[in-house]
Amino acid sequence: MFPLTKDNYHSTLANTCYMSRGQYKNFLDCEASVMASLNGQWVEPSSIALEVGQYVHSWNDGTRREFIANHSNMFTQKLTLKKEYQDADKMIETLERDPFAMYCLEGQKEVIVTAFMFGAWWKVMLDVQNNERRRIVDLKTTRSVTEHVWIVVEDEFGKKVNRKVSFVEAYQYPLQNAIYSEVERIAMGRDEGDWSEFLIVAVSKEKSPDKAIINMTDPERLVKELAEVEANMPRIIAVKSGLEEPRRCECCDYCRATKVLTKVVKYTEL
Ligand SMILES: [Zn+2]
Repeated sequence: MFPLTKDNYHSTLANTCYMSRGQYKNFLDCEASVMASLNGQWVEPSSIALEVGQYVHSWNDGTRREFIANHSNMFTQKLTLKKEYQDADKMIETLERDPFAMYCLEGQKEVIVTAFMFGAWWKVMLDVQNNERRRIVDLKTTRSVTEHVWIVVEDEFGKKVNRKVSFVEAYQYPLQNAIYSEVERIAMGRDEGDWSEFLIVAVSKEKSPDKAIINMTDPERLVKELAEVEANMPRIIAVKSGLEEPRRCECCDYCRATKVLTKVVKYTEL
């Protein structure tokens, strides 16, 4: 299998050879946009929020200096740090000042782990892997740790309903946790169901950053999330290998950018 390094981890070749949590989620959202990125026809636009998250992660794995050297867009024309990065520095300080958070972040940083799971090779990058304590830790930056947000979900009858949930549920972190835990378990050669403890160290983007250490260890939920991944994988593998035509979602950036009008819609249908 194609050997992964930190430099090629996010490359198109790596994404073609391996499934990842992000790619899995993108396949469920819009198959056409994933296939277009794999074929080099579409580049997902980068956002400052994404880069700020990467900056905080570079602090965690000790590559903050390199990050700054490679991101001149962190600075304004007057060479002061942009507001978003000033906030990020506050988030970093918040964690640095908290001994318990720093204790939880101890271990090997940015560890690449691969495993064959549900018919495909998967790659994950663990923010922190601590084998002595049998623990995986994920560092999350979020708007608020405690505030609940509205999301749209399908109820038991398949009807779309609004529900207010924590940031952990809104961003489907239990799914991420399940994929990371299972890939790590397989890669480490442990028995079925023998997962590591899973923690999230969260820090908020608020003026005075909030923080929390969240215990995500929940084998029952993990099994449920993995069963869903397993059920979705045959279709994803078929699309990714070109056996099935990718479906367009008609509402993402890629679908909007490549939309061709062929009919008129009635105003009541909007
Ligand atoms: Zn789409």
